[in-house]
Amino acid sequence: MTAQSISNAKVNQPWKNWGGNQEFTPALTVRPTTEAEIVAAVRHAIQEKMTVRVAGAGHSFTPVVATNGLLLDLSDMQQVTGVDSETRRVRALGGTQIDKFGDPLWKAGLSLGNQGDIDKQAIAGAISTATHGSGIESGCFSSMITWVRLINGHGEIIEIDEGDMKRLRAAQVAVGTLGVILEVELQAVPAYHLREEITYETTDELLDGWDQNPHNARHFSFLWCQAPESAGLYELPTPPGLDMVGRAYTKRYWAEDLDDVNNPITEEGRRHDRAYRIYPGGFGIPFHELEYYVGVDRAKDAWIALKDLIFEQHPEQKYPIETRWTQADQGYISPFYREDKVSLSVSGAPGTNYEPYLRDVDKLLQQFDATVHWGKIHYLTRERADKLFPEIETFRQVRRELDPNGVFLNKHTEELFS
Ligand SMILES: Cc1cc2nc3c(=O)[nH]c(=O)nc-3n(C[C@H](O)[C@H](O)[C@H](O)COP(=O)(O)OP(=O)(O)OC[C@H]3O[C@@H](n4cnc5c(N)ncnc54)[C@H](O)[C@@H]3O)c2cc1C
Repeated sequence: MTAQSISNAKVNQPWKNWGGNQEFTPALTVRPTTEAEIVAAVRHAIQEKMTVRVAGAGHSFTPVVATNGLLLDLSDMQQVTGVDSETRRVRALGGTQIDKFGDPLWKAGLSLGNQGDIDKQAIAGAISTATHGSGIESGCFSSMITWVRLINGHGEIIEIDEGDMKRLRAAQVAVGTLGVILEVELQAVPAYHLREEITYETTDELLDGWDQNPHNARHFSFLWCQAPESAGLYELPTPPGLDMVGRAYTKRYWAEDLDDVNNPITEEGRRHDRAYRIYPGGFGIPFHELEYYVGVDRAKDAWIALKDLIFEQHPEQKYPIETRWTQADQGYISPFYREDKVSLSVSGAPGTNYEPYLRDVDKLLQQFDATVHWGKIHYLTRERADKLFPEIETFRQVRRELDPNGVFLNKHTEELFS
């Protein structure tokens, strides 16, 4: 088979991520419309000794998609393939955007247990980096996986289910290194509505309520603003005239009894609707984000230290600190492996030299043994990863079994996971 005979293939087509900080030109880009086309493209790459990476929606800030070989764009491989009301499980093709799950699940009396700030990621992209929302009793997307079908580095299609927990825990978060995820199954929950409450709490109020807040709502999170322009950078609506410096856009979402809801309320700040319509916001202005995770017990100290770092050493940095809670899970390289975590996220402005700031944040949060979001800017080396993820070698073992020749590795993932 030649490159010309592969369906929907383009040569030397440049690729760029959402944030605009990652770009590369693969030798071949294939946008398959059937599973058979994915399989043919991967087998062709293996035969030609090309590396392969998959692009989801391109919302990661790290070089996790980059390849100079074959890039698979799964934008046309989107479908919720089955919903089982009895087991409360849903299956979907790997390229399916998260916003495609809401309606079919709702019709079956189900919802996803949690969602993040947006719903534009491909489901396989979201699980590959342990994408999460906020909720001390809510795990990340990867924690919901019960089954996955993928094509591995041998060119074989395999299924991994709960009968093989070693492989399943590796597949839960794998940064695209086990193969192309063709289809996944997620554990859903009974359908629920959410009631939103937005407040603008001061630093003292947030610190006073630090321990209770995450337990008092189904989802609690806040975006703390260090400068007058901070809220605007993330397009957060604020009341006219309110000085946001030292305050946070604070989100609480409560689950509501379904019978209570007749009409959704869509007024910003007090919305009341089906869960999947409440979770996602929208981000129109690009930013470059770092998100690290500190164990719940040490997170308050880490947050205060981060705030002080910004005030004292980086007053030029304006993006809010987003603070969220995520429940522990079992994924071998999940940042939430066996420990409930608090996420601390900061961003740099595209086109500015934010690197010294993010390096200082990295240095500070290392002192709190912080793990990292694989899809957001981080400075982990292999040595640091070895210390932070106790089962990383088990993960690497599974990866080597499924892809001994490193078809699905690139420079970035090879350093960490080979
Ligand atoms: C505006 C914005 C908001 C965000 N909000 C959140 C948030 O609330 N919570 C959070 O945790 N993160 C958030 N993120 C980060 C984002 O969720 C992750 O980076 C996620 O991985 C992006 O998904 P994607 O579909 O764009 O995947 P990509 O970035 O395209 O890819 C991510 C990884 O998945 C792999 N991959 C994709 N598809 C497949 C497949 N079929 N088979 C195998 N591997 C595959 C890729 O190769 C890559 O390694 C946000 C990012 C942006 C830009």
